[in-house]
Formats: sequence, structure tokens, C-alpha cells
Amino acid sequence: MKDRGYYGQYGGAFLPEILTTTFDELEAIFNSIKNDPCFWKEYKSLMSSYSCRPTPLTFAENLTDHFNGAKIYIKREDLNHTGAHKANNVMGQGLLVKKMGKKRVIAETGAGQHGVATATMAAKFGFDCTIYMGEVDVLRQRPNVFWMEQLGAEVISVKDGTRILKDAINEAFRDWVENMDTTHYVLGTACGPHPFPEMVTFFQSIIGQEARNQILEIEGKLPARVYACVGGGSNAMGLFSGFLNDPVELVGVEAGGKGLNSGKHASRLSSKDASCGIAQGYKTYFLQDSDGQMKETHSISAGLDYVGVSPILSKMHDMKEARFESATDDDVVKALRFTMQKEGIIPALESAHAFAFAFKEAGNLSKDDIIIINQSGRGDKDIFTVADAFDDPKWKQFIIEKALEYKKNA
Ligand SMILES: *Cc1c(COP(=O)(O)O)cnc(C)c1O
Repeated sequence: MKDRGYYGQYGGAFLPEILTTTFDELEAIFNSIKNDPCFWKEYKSLMSSYSCRPTPLTFAENLTDHFNGAKIYIKREDLNHTGAHKANNVMGQGLLVKKMGKKRVIAETGAGQHGVATATMAAKFGFDCTIYMGEVDVLRQRPNVFWMEQLGAEVISVKDGTRILKDAINEAFRDWVENMDTTHYVLGTACGPHPFPEMVTFFQSIIGQEARNQILEIEGKLPARVYACVGGGSNAMGLFSGFLNDPVELVGVEAGGKGLNSGKHASRLSSKDASCGIAQGYKTYFLQDSDGQMKETHSISAGLDYVGVSPILSKMHDMKEARFESATDDDVVKALRFTMQKEGIIPALESAHAFAFAFKEAGNLSKDDIIIINQSGRGDKDIFTVADAFDDPKWKQFIIEKALEYKKNA
């Protein structure tokens, strides 16, 4: 097992012995479908009837006029069911679970978006579903917890350790070890032990395949650059997959938080603060101190606030096959407001990182150049954070009045 799933020195599968059989089974089923055109057809057909695929490639005419450089196109992953590219991965894994004959899925979630997507998939396929979430995150992300429960999932609030994502991951692994005969662990991004990075990338590659065909159809040529935000790296790998053999520059944008010199960010590949290590079953760049203790990360967007990163992107970073940059919280909020007002499109805070950095470069390119920005998700989910960041007084008043109303009726 340990010799498989390496990208340069990164990746691998560092697992407790007891999970070997389950991982072998998962790898075997994945290997049986990954070159099977019938499976890909089944997957595409499911995604077209359930998740609005192919998602459009939108020409951002007003942004293009404003920056007066490259033509800006937006790949609309926000139009997926449940509002983000996460649907591509969870529905794909759902099909595999069905093929393996398992009846239960588990997942861990920080911000709750992957939990909602997994609970949705479980409802659709008729699986039992348990979602692990740190107690701190359960308290912060009530709207997502509400929807997971309404969709029929059991949400377990993890009270160990620092009560956040990494503690939820440990608990989910514990569950998997106990129930591996019946249960599949739906990992949410292109990280973790082999075959997850490859498998999640495979499902997300539908983004890049479509984008490449669409831009060739609309413009008759390839883009100069494509931009995607990088949390664990799944939407970036999805978009990049379409252009790996093309003369297209791939740009990944990480969470710059309060700035790369502040120590309050989640930039693994674009800062000097991360180093190679092994944790959570795989080897990659982690934001860790010299003793291997994971550092605290910060981002305005919960989905990018992550200590590790896809081992595939770590290798692409070292080989200079992709360029990694960062956008600060402040830049992201500005880019979000600008995109809404210019195009009537509301990107998720995660996606707004890609927009923010692309806006810095668009004007330096020529009018013959094309860029594509991946809009990984829609921003409605961020209303609490964004209304705070915009310091909207009417929103504050609304929350206060809601709270008073509940108090009166309590
Ligand atoms: C979860 C999420 C991300 C980050 O995950 P990746 O695996 O890096 O793609 C980005 N955008 C949105 C909208 C998300 O929900």
C-alpha cells in the first residue's frame, strides 16, 4: 500500500493495519471504473439530471470592460445542487458506495458544506448517514447543522481535543475502523490517504473537461490562465485537470487571511510557513511548527481554513507546474462586493479568493488573452460573515429583533 498513490514525495497511505482491507476494496472498485466509459456516462447523466451539469461558462463582460485586459470567463460551479462543486465528489462517491453494496456513509465536516452535500447524497441514495463535527463548529454553523439533520443525517458533536475539524476527522476514522464492512467514509477534498486524492480529482475533473470544451466552442482557443481557490484542493484540481497538457498557466489562490506576515492565514504553498510532514494518513505540506504540531490557521472563509493540502498540488508546486498565490480577507471582501455589483453574481467567500487575485492580474494581460475563474460555490451561505464584514446596520437590527422575539416567547 505504502508505495502507491505518490506524487513526487507526497501522498501515500499511512493507515492503521486494520483499514488495509477496506482501502484495498475502495482502490479496487475505483480502478474498475476509472477507465470505464460506461461509468463516466452514468455519472454525467446523474449530474445532469440532479445537479444542473454541464454548468455554464459565463462571459463577465462588465468585469472585462472594467479591467481592460484579458477576457474574463467564470465557470459556474455555484449552480450545482447544494450550491458548490462539492456535489461532483459526493455524488460520484455515492455511485461507488452503491456498487460496493454498502448502506451507510460517514463524513467529517468543518464549515458544514461537505456535511450538507453528503447528507443530500445519502438521502438521494437511501443510505444511513452520520456526520462528525467538532463541538465548536456545531455551535458556529447552526444553519448547516439544521439542514443536515432535516435531510436525515445524524450529526455527532465531537467534544475531544480542540473540538474542531481535526478532532472530527479522528472520530470519523474511529467509526470507520469499527464499521468498515457496512460503511464508506466520504472524504470531502483531494487530500487524505490514497486513493482519495486521485479519486476526488477524478470526479472533479468534470469541471475542467467541460470548461475546456466550452471555451474552445465559444472562443475557438484556450485560455492563457485559469484561476481557482485552494482549500484542500479539489475544485482547483478539478479545473486544472482539463488543461494539464495545454500551454495554460494554472493559478491556485490560498487564504491569505490577515496577511502572510501576520501568522493568521491558511497559505501552505504560497507562504514559507508550511513544511512537509505526515498527518491524517498522508504526506504533504502542513502548516506545522518545528515539533510537527499543527498551527492555528485563519481565513474569512471556513472552506479554505485547512492545515494540509492536496499532495498532487504539493508536487505541482515543487515542479512549478502550477503557481500558488494568496488573497487577504480584505481583498476578498472587496472582490466579492465588486463582482456582485458588476455582474450580479454572488461568489462564495472561498471562490472570491480566486476572483480577488485574478482581478490583480487581468489588466496586465492583452485583450487577446482569455482567463477563466472557477466560481466554486455561491455566496448565500456566507450571509452572516459577509453582512458582518460589510458592517450592515439593517442586518444587525434584524438579528437583534429576531433574538428578542425568541426571548419573549421562550
Ligand atoms: C469546500 C469549498 C472549497 C474548498 O475546497 P477545495 O477542496 O479546495 O475545493 C472551495 N469553495 C467552496 C465554495 C467550498 O464549499
